[in-house]
Amino acid sequence: MIQEQYIRAISRFILLLSVAVLIGYLIDQIALCIVILLSVLLIWYTYNLNRLNDWLTSKKNLYPPSSNGLWSDTFDGIYRLQKKNRQRRKELGQVLKRFRDGAEALPDAAVVVEDTGQIIWCNKLALMLFGLRWPEDSGLLITNLLRYPDFIEHFHKHSKDKESSGEYILIPSSTDRESIIEIRMVPYALGQVLILGRDVTQSQRLNQMRKDFIANVSHELRTPLTVLQGYLEMMQDPDMAQALPGTKAVGMMSEQCERMFSLVNQLLVLSRIEANKENIYDNIVDVPAIMLLLEKEAEQLNLESQHAISFDIDHNLLIHGIEDELRSAFTNLVKNAIRYTPQGGVIKVAWRKQGTAATFSVTDNGEGIEAQHLNRLTERFYRVDKARSRTTGGSGLGLSIVKHVLAHHKSQLDIDSVVDQGSCFSFSFPTDLVVTRQRRARKPRLSA
Ligand code: ADP
Repeated sequence: MIQEQYIRAISRFILLLSVAVLIGYLIDQIALCIVILLSVLLIWYTYNLNRLNDWLTSKKNLYPPSSNGLWSDTFDGIYRLQKKNRQRRKELGQVLKRFRDGAEALPDAAVVVEDTGQIIWCNKLALMLFGLRWPEDSGLLITNLLRYPDFIEHFHKHSKDKESSGEYILIPSSTDRESIIEIRMVPYALGQVLILGRDVTQSQRLNQMRKDFIANVSHELRTPLTVLQGYLEMMQDPDMAQALPGTKAVGMMSEQCERMFSLVNQLLVLSRIEANKENIYDNIVDVPAIMLLLEKEAEQLNLESQHAISFDIDHNLLIHGIEDELRSAFTNLVKNAIRYTPQGGVIKVAWRKQGTAATFSVTDNGEGIEAQHLNRLTERFYRVDKARSRTTGGSGLGLSIVKHVLAHHKSQLDIDSVVDQGSCFSFSFPTDLVVTRQRRARKPRLSA
């Protein structure tokens, strides 16, 4: 094809040259005619070269100027090349867009930096977690923007030793000091590093809670076990065993065993509530019936303290829920009132409708609780007065159980308390859980 065009162009030139020589021969001016032909051809070439230049430099016109001969083929060839390049650029742009969209969709913050630390690119999550600004921070050193000593040390270590990419560090988030970010660095393209950051606040907190929980349980079990161990050692020693009043020792040991038993039971209740996936709307709970049982239980517990306990119950007020859980919540609050009210106190328990909601409350005139403790009372093992709670047999899990039960039943615990005047623990169940007992219609008397 190219060969053909070339031969055609040469043939045309030879033809024009022959015509010029012939005309020159006829008028006896061969040299002049050749010069005129060459000048015309030069002007033609300059003219087309100029058009080519105009077309290539102006961005407005996509299509090449029209011409003929070799120039037409040249224009078309360049046009085809440009078209192909444009297509390739478009495809590359789409690939790049797909890559960027993918990086934006990552659940991690991602920053690409040079080995030296200069920022090349980052995704939107990186702006949020690391507090970077885009494009203002492009080209700045990441170590100047995230100035945590651990991060800087890790970055320099990684730049020197690419094998350390499996290691991670934890730093606080630049935008929210409470959040903890896990940082990993992975080698990227040649001479570049990809820094990945993930918000691990939640899992760190859970981890800490798990550790605290294990420490607390061990601590709670250790105290009664130490007492038991002490008595058993004394019993093994013949001299001491004689001096030890037998009934007192047995009494103390059984008290400690009871405490451990109650602790383990409450832990089991708590874990059962947490794991329970039952639907609260599946069952209707006869709360007034629970209240009657609770009243009897309270009488037994009250033998020593002699409080005046009154129950004010709406006998037609039932709710949707899980019976075991609710019983455990009601019982814990009533037991606490009996436990933390000095002898001869007044305790009022109420199960009533308030508006369209169902409300349970336990009011006592006991020791009360200082305001600074109120927010923490429902934490596991939290006690206001540890020594006193232990002597009353408390494990510090009661209100935590209540909190979980209520969360399961779309409610929450309200605590009002004034030191030395008393406390009121109450909660309300929303309208959609409330069920009103239908009174049975009386049978019509049959007349004789
Ligand atoms: P415990 O098993 O120790 O009673 P709870 O979780 O039931 O644990 O209660 C947490 C703490 O709240 C108790 O240690 C006690 O100090 C305080 N408390 C609970 N109920 C009352 C109340 N009615 N009056 C005063 N303090 C209370």
